[in-house]
Amino acid sequence: MAAVADNWLRSVLMALHRIRPATRTALVEDTGLNAASVSRGLQVLLDAGLAVKTGELDSIGGRRSETLSLNPEAGYFVAVDLEGTRVRCARTDMLGDVQRMWEAPVRPEKGISLTQVHRGIESVLSGLTSAAARRVLAIGVSFPGLVDSSGRLTAVNLHWKDVPLEEELARRHGLPVYLEQDSVTGIRAEQVDGPAAGARNWIYLLAGNGVGVGLVIDGRYVHGGRGMAGEMGHVVIEPEAADLCQCGNRGCLEAITSSPNIVRQYIERTGRRPMAAEVTEVFSRARQADPAAVEVIDRVGRAFGLALSHAVSILNPELILLTGDIVGAADLIIPRIQRELAQRTLPQLLDNLTLCASRLGPDVRLRGAATLAFDRIVNGPDWLPQLCRKGTGFAGGDSIIPRSQQASRRSLRRSHRDGGRSR
Ligand SMILES: [Zn+2]
Repeated sequence: MAAVADNWLRSVLMALHRIRPATRTALVEDTGLNAASVSRGLQVLLDAGLAVKTGELDSIGGRRSETLSLNPEAGYFVAVDLEGTRVRCARTDMLGDVQRMWEAPVRPEKGISLTQVHRGIESVLSGLTSAAARRVLAIGVSFPGLVDSSGRLTAVNLHWKDVPLEEELARRHGLPVYLEQDSVTGIRAEQVDGPAAGARNWIYLLAGNGVGVGLVIDGRYVHGGRGMAGEMGHVVIEPEAADLCQCGNRGCLEAITSSPNIVRQYIERTGRRPMAAEVTEVFSRARQADPAAVEVIDRVGRAFGLALSHAVSILNPELILLTGDIVGAADLIIPRIQRELAQRTLPQLLDNLTLCASRLGPDVRLRGAATLAFDRIVNGPDWLPQLCRKGTGFAGGDSIIPRSQQASRRSLRRSHRDGGRSR
């Protein structure tokens, strides 16, 4: 029976998570497996109730192809996104689609308590039947800041220092808990769908309250020696500039391009606050050709372009994906970045480079946290083999969390911890 847990079966399952709707041909292309292996894997998953037939698609030559999907109700996950300004919890189905959401603001002066996060998780799990509640498989958490080897989180924005997040969530909710740094959860979600799916070398540029990049090189996320690779926000772009950065230096990329600094520069040039004192207001004024707003956006585009020209020369990426607040100004910023890149980068490095904005919106890290939990459960030693061994799926309301997993959450968590997440 060990064969049912082989990697080829997991490959088919993971591909069903990515491709919607999936045909056998698409699964063969995505997994690199032969048609017989894909068919065999699908039959195992259909028998276990993990996959379902969803319909038919017209295909080339007039033949119709059967479409398949993961069974969305085969399992549920809790996704938690600890942002600097708000905390969100979601219950997702097996495919990572949000079924129920909870949100609370993080107050700048007080942060947020762990008790509130517990309450959020309980809120999204309420309303499930008892049979469905037994199919909640894991909690995935996207965090800012730094987690130590015991799963304790220190995050300045949340006002948390050495909070035993992993242990407390596991104890209170009786589920395996997986933690991942916010830039990595973002990358994880982007890799499932959209322009980054299948990209081997790409830069994930996050620009909002802060500025940083995530790097995927040769298909692998780059953590760096202390998990701090990608701190591009603190690359000095204008050494003579007066713009003071939070890190204490002047002229950092972040000091020019973060949302608060875009608003600040607009206020400095006009002496008035934008109506909503929000970066989106500066963006819309730039679209209306407000000279001060255009001047700020020009500077922001040049700064991003200059910083990215260095990254492109060093890493030769095929894709730069913008995410965060900056997505709201993609139409303004992308042409400015392209102009700067064209001036400062070898043309051969730009031939195959795509620069575009994320389409996933504000749920990106929640989706990434759900995908993290899905990946760890699917690739874990217990869940899939046990489910497939039963052969009859989970009809009748059986728990599909293996008993061994329920009994030893702690050892499971330890064995699945992502060694490179700390920062
Ligand atoms: Zn700085």
